[in-house]
Amino acid sequence: MDKETFRRHGYEFIDWVADYFEEVEKYPVRSTVKPGEIRAALPEKPPPSGEPMDNIFNDFREIILPGITHWQHPGWFAYFPANNSPASVLAELLTAGIGAQCMVWQTSPAATELEEVVMRWLGSMIGLPETMSGVIQDTASTATLCALLTAREKATGFESNRSGLRLPLCVYTSEEGHSSIDKDIKIAGYGLDYLRHIPTDRNFAMIPGELEKAIEKDRAEGLKPACVIGTIGTTSSTAVDPLAEIGPICRRHGLWFHVDAAYGGTAALLEEKKQLLAGSEYFDTFVFNPHKWMLTNFDCSAYFVRDEEALVRTFEIHPEYLKTGRDSEVKNYRDWGIQLGRRFRALKLWFVIRSYGVEGLKEMVREHIRLANLFKGWVEEDDRFELMAPVQFSLVCFRFKKDGLNERELDALNADLLEKVNRSGKVFLTHTSLKGRYALRMAIGQRTTQERHVRDAWALIIDTAGQL
Ligand SMILES: *Cc1c(COP(=O)(O)O)cnc(C)c1O
Repeated sequence: MDKETFRRHGYEFIDWVADYFEEVEKYPVRSTVKPGEIRAALPEKPPPSGEPMDNIFNDFREIILPGITHWQHPGWFAYFPANNSPASVLAELLTAGIGAQCMVWQTSPAATELEEVVMRWLGSMIGLPETMSGVIQDTASTATLCALLTAREKATGFESNRSGLRLPLCVYTSEEGHSSIDKDIKIAGYGLDYLRHIPTDRNFAMIPGELEKAIEKDRAEGLKPACVIGTIGTTSSTAVDPLAEIGPICRRHGLWFHVDAAYGGTAALLEEKKQLLAGSEYFDTFVFNPHKWMLTNFDCSAYFVRDEEALVRTFEIHPEYLKTGRDSEVKNYRDWGIQLGRRFRALKLWFVIRSYGVEGLKEMVREHIRLANLFKGWVEEDDRFELMAPVQFSLVCFRFKKDGLNERELDALNADLLEKVNRSGKVFLTHTSLKGRYALRMAIGQRTTQERHVRDAWALIIDTAGQL
């Protein structure tokens, strides 16, 4: 592709994205294609020779777009958000253009040093202890895996990296801990048999007394407790574990304390939510996702660690072909995680923080929390509905009720309501199970979601429920 063609399509694509941001509301939020439909529309074989960009772009619009579920739609209330922003998209374009692979300092000093700086900014923005340093990981799943691997090495005096895991090590999280923990436990070699799911209270938060009992029981049986994973904002209902009580238990028993705040961590930007990080003096590692609720397009996960040396000792490798004369003076982020090759993710985070400013980011978070509380109020006022969990952030868990139905029938009724509401194309909500009961999740966090979208969603929900 020559320079002029590149330029022409570049302008064209930016125009397309700018229009998409504005017009995304006209698409059905959840893609309506059937399984296999997109695959069937694509040729079996790759083209032997190059095709003009006009044709490729045309197929993008005609074939690919119908198979897209529109996460940036203002009617996005499913899962958690993964919101992006114009500033983030522009930075991503520059990152792709530069095409740097930022595995060590000398492969792009600016990437390493900008990452150090924005991670320091981010830590102070949410109020983490200054003694924690940050590194960007692709996802919270990977960050938690890093925490578990470092915890494993600490618990075995860095022996398991050499000899493999010889004695079982136990890990503790609540019943509501994220499924990525289970996956990471499998990968890190602990084994699912040694992952303890600690019971939760009526607000779905870990019960510290139960944690301590479980640790003591394992210890009495000759097993070695290694790590506790607390959560700020569980995925089902955004419960917050009592970290200030869990921290001292970890300290007493010498356990690594990792905190998963993938979605909820962003709320700690707000003065009125600073108590979320109560107990942070005990955190060994902490993760939250700017790619969820902080306008930084996927992927960008912020991982903080207190004992930098333990982290690096867990991961470091020194092959001859990666040695540079500067290794003692600089950070080489290849040793701060699993992958060798690294994308320049700090750039988009820098663009986002500068473009919105800390106040701009807080405003967005505050508004989403306000909208969620508005929605919560409507649920509480309507006696055909009930709230299923406390609203701590911008997620509301609720369900529709009908007299004379048992729990099984209520589950089916709500699943039916959910499918009908989603089929409208105007909104997309998902569900979860809370203490065995089916609950609808209304997760508010899209950049462009306004009060009218939340009002329309509620009107659609009560209207649809009325017809069941
Ligand atoms: C979303 C989420 C995760 C997983 O995040 P990824 O970045 O997709 O790996 C982990 N923990 C919690 C609490 C989450 O909400």
